[in-house]
Order: sequence, then C-alpha cells, then structure tokens
Amino acid sequence: MREILHVQGGQCGNQIGSKFWEVICDEHGVDPTGRYNGDSADLQLERINVYYNEASGGRYVPRAVLMDLEPGTMDSIRSGPYGQIFRPDNFVFGQSGAGNNWAKGHYTEGAELIDAVLDVVRKEAENCDCLQGFQVCHSLGGGTGSGMGTLLISKIREEYPDRMMLTFSVFPSPKVSDTVVEPYNATLSVHQLVENADECMVLDNEALYDICFRTLKLSTPSFGDLNHLISATMSGVTCSLRFPGQLNSDLRKLAVNLIPFPRLHFFMVGFAPLTSRGSQQYISLTVPELTQQMWDAKNMMCAADPRHGRYLTASAMFRGKMSTKEVDEQILNVQNKNSSYFVEWIPNNVKSSVCDIPPTGIKMASTFVGNSTSIQEMFRRVSEQFTAMFRRKAFLHWYTGEGMDEMEFTEAESNMNDLVAEYQQYQDATAEEEGEYEDEEEEAYES
Ligand code: GDP
Repeated sequence: MREILHVQGGQCGNQIGSKFWEVICDEHGVDPTGRYNGDSADLQLERINVYYNEASGGRYVPRAVLMDLEPGTMDSIRSGPYGQIFRPDNFVFGQSGAGNNWAKGHYTEGAELIDAVLDVVRKEAENCDCLQGFQVCHSLGGGTGSGMGTLLISKIREEYPDRMMLTFSVFPSPKVSDTVVEPYNATLSVHQLVENADECMVLDNEALYDICFRTLKLSTPSFGDLNHLISATMSGVTCSLRFPGQLNSDLRKLAVNLIPFPRLHFFMVGFAPLTSRGSQQYISLTVPELTQQMWDAKNMMCAADPRHGRYLTASAMFRGKMSTKEVDEQILNVQNKNSSYFVEWIPNNVKSSVCDIPPTGIKMASTFVGNSTSIQEMFRRVSEQFTAMFRRKAFLHWYTGEGMDEMEFTEAESNMNDLVAEYQQYQDATAEEEGEYEDEEEEAYES
C-alpha cells in the first residue's frame, strides 16, 4: 500500500478540496456515508487505500486533514453533501482569520495553530503502511492557504524529508478577485514552493476565468464554475494514482518523468472535453478530438501559451474505453507535427496512458500535464504586479507589522525572477550547444 495524505487549507483550498473528494468518492463508488456502493469493485477498490482509510464496519474515510483560520468554510463543508464522510477530529480551525495577509498565515496566527494540524497529520501518517507522500490544496493569493499552507509544507518537509510533496496551487488573478495584495502573497508562496514542494499543479484563476467566459460562455463565472474545472482536472491528474495502471502510478514516478531539473516543477494542466456544470452528458469526443483539445492553449488551466515556449516533458492521460494503439498514434502525430515545441535534447519526452474508468457522466476524457517553459508567462505576470507595488513599498506595513522583514520580499522577488530566467535558459537551449561549447574551449586553448 502506498498511501497519500491530503491536506486542504483556507477558503479556496477547502472549497476545491471538498469538491475533489465528492468527485473521487463518486468515481470509486463511495457514498456520502463512506460505504461502497459501486458497480465495478475490482477497479474501484483495488487501490482505494491510496486516498482512503478503511474504518470498522467497512466504511471508507478520506485520509484528509482540513485546516483554516476561521470556521466558516469548514462549517459549510461539514453540513454539505459529503460532510459526514470526513473524520471529525481532522477538522482543525481557529477563529482569528488571516485577513488576506500571508504574514498572519505564515508567522503569527497560522504559526499558533500549526502544531494542532501537525498532530493530526502525524496521527494519519502513523496509521499508514507505507506513506508515499502528501498533497496540499490551497490558494496562493490569500493568507491562510497561502501563508499557513506553505508553513505546513515546510514543517512536513522537515519531518518527512523523503516523502513526496504535491500541491494543487490556485494562482490569483485580478479578473476574479479584488484584493490588491495577492501578488505579494503569491510571490512569497512561490518562494516557498520552489524550495519545499516536489511537484505543483498550477491552477490559474486567470485561465479558469477565461475558459468559463470564452469557451463555456458563462457571462459571470462564479467560484463554483471555476471549481468545477478544477475538480475535473484534479480527478484527471490523480487518476493514475488511484486506479490500476502503469504510467505515473505513484507520486515519485510522476515526478521522475516530468522534472528534468529540480526547481522546474510547476506544471501546466489541461483537460478535455471542457464542460460547464450540468452540461457534460451532451458531449462525446473521439480520440483525435480529445488529443487536439488537450494540447490546445485554450484548454490549459494556466494563462500561458505553450506555443510561446517549449515542452521539457509532458504526460497525456486518457480515460474511458478506447484503443491504446489509436492513442499512441495520435500522440506521436502531435509530436511529429509540432517537433519544434518539444526540446530535442530530451528524447521521448511525451508519455501517454489509458485508464479504463472514465469520469462520471462522460464516455471519454483526457488530462494533460506538461512541463512547459512558457509557464514563465504566468510568473512574469505575478512578478510585474508584485514589483509595481513593492517599488513603492505599498501595503508593506501590514506585513512588517506581523514581524516580517522587508528582506524576505526582496528574496522572494529574486527567487521568482530566477525561476523565470531558468525557464528561459532551457527554452533557448539546443542539442548543439554542447558542441559549440567544445569549439569555444578549443579556440581558447589555441590562443
Ligand atoms: P484564505 O482563506 O486566507 O486562504 O484565502 P482565500 O482562499 O480566500 O484566498 C484568496 C484567493 O483565492 C483569491 O485569489 C481568490 O480569487 C481565490 N479563491 C478563493 N476562493 C476560491 C474558490 O473557491 N475557487 C477558486 N478557484 N479560487 C478561490
């Protein structure tokens, strides 16, 4: 057994986390009381232990810890459709709130609550047979998921240095939110995620909003609409971890395939077919259509255009009954037709797989996870917003008032700018470069 321990923090983290559990409970045939009620036990239960504990009486209980600095969101989860499925002791919350201030989440209010969270995490980890790692759901723009979320990640890294850390991180966009300090919170978080997370699935509210508005024709997208896209993507990304199969069957294998350099672990994710809430039953696509859509910039949950960069690596995961041969052909076709968009110095850098079980309500779907140098566009966007304010030290007193040093802002800013530069460096790198180097050395030698 290779268990994953899930943690969700803050308003956004708790919203998307609880949607994730609703979706995967449905896919594994687990009803809101935790009982198995499915129709394909072999597939649905074979790897159920990755995400669920088995309690007495044959109930399945999510291996999930829920944390927040205010009680509201968790109260509504508890009274929601799957509220009774979680272990009541695993709800850890305070009353103070973080007021969209990363410093409160990371250094003051959050630091006070963190030991209570770690106690629950430890208890869950001790119950595992062989824990493979952790997954954390949070937003980066607020105070709790962002500040306290990254505090938790660093504490977990300290205590479990050899376990994997996967995050589902929601990046802020002014299109969706009206809190001006979000670029500060996000940049301080990225600084942490570069060092302490192994793999980050980037969920960018800017792209999610655009998909809702442009593709799904929703004139005023709500968080519920955005979260519908997120939960479909999270289900797709974790499919290979939850169901029997070969490719990316655990967090470490996923990382090995996708991460050629340790800092470059921020992934663009895509999904096809895109549907709005309630409309999915009308859509049915073929393998070529799914393939075409999943590589399309319009289907990416990150506001960056893959055609502005190159893929270091990518993974295409199909779900439903289909021919593996056709999938292989289609993926090969994409690579051959677009070879300039894949770095040539990593041969065979696209992997594909098929999982028999489709998401609920559709016959076939596909999920894309790519390590694209174009993701720097999103980091640049946040960096520009950060710098505009930081240049004038605007709003800084909210952070220094919680004991933070300005230096941490400067370091976070340069770490993110370094990250952008590293993506650019590998975008420009060619297979011939090594040879050129040798020539230069020879010349230097001769003179
Ligand atoms: P926290 O409770 O202090 O962690 O703060 P929030 O999670 O509310 O963080 C604010 C950021 O998260 C902003 O960028 C919001 O746009 C975003 N956000 C809040 N709730 C949701 C949600 O349910 N879905 C999505 N996609 N984004 C959210």
